[in-house]
Amino acid sequence: MSKKVLIVSNRLPVTIQHIENKLHFHPSAGGLATGLGSIYKKGNNLWIGWPGFHDYAESDKENITSQLANDNMAPVFLSKKDIRDYYEGFSNKTIWPLFHYFTEYATYDKGLWDAYVRVNKKFCDAILHHANDGDVIWIHDYQLLLLPSMVREKLPNATIGFFQHIPFPSFEIFRLMPWREQILEGMLGSDLIGFHTYDDMRHFLSSVNRILGHGNTMGQIRINNRLIGVDAFPMGIDYDKYAKATHAPETIDKLKRYFKILSNQKVVLSIDRLDYSKGIKQRLQAFDIFLEKYPEYIGKVSLILIVVPSRVKVEQYNQLKNEIDTLVGALNGKYSRIDWNPIHYFYRSFSFHSLSALYSSAEVALITPLRDGMNLVCKEYIASKLDKKGVLILSEMAGSAKEMSEAILINPNDIDQIVNAMHQALEMPEAEQIARNEEMQEKLKRYNIHRWVEVFFEQLDFIKRKQKDLNMKMVTGKTADLIIEKYKKSKERILFLDYDGTLKGFSSNPKAVSPDKELLSILENLTANPKNKVIIISGRDKGTLGEWLGHLNLDLIAEHGVWLKESGKKWIMIDNIDQTWKKEIRHILELYVDRTPGSFIEDKDYSLVWHYRKADTDFGELRARELLSNLNYLIANMDLQTMEGNKVIEIKNRAINKGKAARKWLNNTENDFIIAIGDDVTDEDTFKAMPENAFTIKVGLTASVARLNIKSSDEVRNLLKGFME
Ligand code: UDP
Repeated sequence: MSKKVLIVSNRLPVTIQHIENKLHFHPSAGGLATGLGSIYKKGNNLWIGWPGFHDYAESDKENITSQLANDNMAPVFLSKKDIRDYYEGFSNKTIWPLFHYFTEYATYDKGLWDAYVRVNKKFCDAILHHANDGDVIWIHDYQLLLLPSMVREKLPNATIGFFQHIPFPSFEIFRLMPWREQILEGMLGSDLIGFHTYDDMRHFLSSVNRILGHGNTMGQIRINNRLIGVDAFPMGIDYDKYAKATHAPETIDKLKRYFKILSNQKVVLSIDRLDYSKGIKQRLQAFDIFLEKYPEYIGKVSLILIVVPSRVKVEQYNQLKNEIDTLVGALNGKYSRIDWNPIHYFYRSFSFHSLSALYSSAEVALITPLRDGMNLVCKEYIASKLDKKGVLILSEMAGSAKEMSEAILINPNDIDQIVNAMHQALEMPEAEQIARNEEMQEKLKRYNIHRWVEVFFEQLDFIKRKQKDLNMKMVTGKTADLIIEKYKKSKERILFLDYDGTLKGFSSNPKAVSPDKELLSILENLTANPKNKVIIISGRDKGTLGEWLGHLNLDLIAEHGVWLKESGKKWIMIDNIDQTWKKEIRHILELYVDRTPGSFIEDKDYSLVWHYRKADTDFGELRARELLSNLNYLIANMDLQTMEGNKVIEIKNRAINKGKAARKWLNNTENDFIIAIGDDVTDEDTFKAMPENAFTIKVGLTASVARLNIKSSDEVRNLLKGFME
């Protein structure tokens, strides 16, 4: 069976109306629906989502399902309670305000969270009803953050993309969320996670790192042998639709009517959904000050303020509506003349051609959100300017500001700046307007909504291919046989083996980390063979290593390369090493010990280690993230490096590393079999020190310079057993 593509979003791209016992279906003309139209309407592909109302009779459900199926759509029926608690509740009273930095509006209610989990499961069930393992599933937006992992659990081989259309806040804001781990884990079920801007992506990666402890390499995270891509895909618009609409007879008709009323006016256009994130109040305040500061514009400029009703069942929206009504009333009361109103206020939505007429005719568009994931209105305004005349004033806090850099960019909290921008816009020479708009139009034309969809799918495909390549690098089956065959044919071998996480799995029990019988017998067997030289290369202190393994016929490297010991000989130190830094760093670590009960400092000969295995697990992880980012900042100009191990953070001299120590064993040109196996960042130096013909093997799937990967320390032992005669 061929692969299907499933699009999943809270709402289906359709509105259903119940009129006189009949159902009427109106397809949505929104940008996303247009962009994805070419995908979900094809073959067996499908768009899954809520069809838009509740209280359906059973017969309605059947009817809706079969009618939607004709248009490649499948409904998820939500109850009144689902809508109240999941949609108006957790989505719009918790996630929306928090992710838009309105922390004071966010409510944290366990009941709403439970509804959010429950409805995400409903969506998962709907997907499972239609999808096969291996299908491509693209999930959209903040109402469905848990869905990627729910689907991944049931369809492990599915290709899952996720795109978030709203901002992702900085860690300092996101950490306020009581269910922060679950939300991140939910999203990480995806293969590719997309945001509008690089800033959103960076904030997400930092939260994943600081809350869950997963780092990233160039936006790629590896968890449990799976690679996850995180990237920025600024959403475009259907450029041609807006450009063409300007000529449409319906638009020209509207234009004529507007012209009759507004012919002697300059028009400043403001269009938003009713939302506190849009900065509508600040905009009105700025317009008031503008008219005070530049009275010559009284009677000559009008603000067309369109506010599209939205989420009126959420208290803050209702309140905002009242405040806007009052402000508009006060302003019109203050400045109106018999033949002129400063503000034409509309609390409703407009038809597409009315919007097009307003876009193409308005001299200025004033778009000043306090925070906005993208903002499409500003792009639509520029695309509608066939004569390229008009000025866009745009908030820096809108995702679109990154692309629309030729607009007059303002900080929406700086009212004076908005006032000055309005003056600058109304006075701007036409040649400058044209030059600015031309640049923006070029970008919008090229990176339109269709290209956005294409690029997302290309990147999803790229990540899947990369996942496959990584699996090819795994030491299993044939690759393991090949290494064993080479080993057997060789005459002088050298084996560099890391200890913790490589020869021995991690354990929270300190007694369980010493070598067990099986490990000792593997090492005895390997070292008994005169063709082999075995070097255990570890971060552990020399006392412990000597006690555990000193009786065997092998060489030891301790403390990441500070101490070296050849079999039967004494420990020697590698070089003279600077230690003056220790006092300053110990002071910082002591602060963390005080603030993290159960954590402690270990003073090694040439490094300092902060241990947190005895601290509360979640709290310890959180503190570790914080300490790491503080340290990395503080030591940027020092010759030190931080290293993260299992519940430890170690700070040591950059000059000491396993690679430098390993090189002391690599002078023998007779070696015809070299292998190095390790699991953490400190082993990267060993891998780098190895000659080209060496087998370098990383335990686990995290990013590495090693040529191969192996799943676990058990697999390492299996490979070594394969070497045994
Ligand atoms: N819009 C509309 N009718 C209106 C006013 C606006 O269909 O009366 C559309 C507008 O063309 C734009 C969308 O609503 O495509 C608003 O998207 P934006 O990203 O600017 O804001 P959001 O509402 O998603 O926060």
